[in-house]
Amino acid sequence: MLHARYNDSMMLKKVLNIIVCPVPNCRKPLTLAADESSLQCTGCGRIYPVEEGIPVLLTEKARLPQA
Ligand SMILES: [Zn+2]
Repeated sequence: MLHARYNDSMMLKKVLNIIVCPVPNCRKPLTLAADESSLQCTGCGRIYPVEEGIPVLLTEKARLPQA
């Protein structure tokens, strides 16, 4: 789990290099939305929220594509 607070987008982009989709059979890299408010999986397409700069990588918090 990521507990640190990331206030600037540079940190968020560094985190992007080390985190992957939490879905067990996916585990693909995530891409940051243009407004930096969410992360989208390049594999399954799930969209994870970024709350106060902290990526919330929980499948129950994720939105499925084409909601
Ligand atoms: Zn995925």
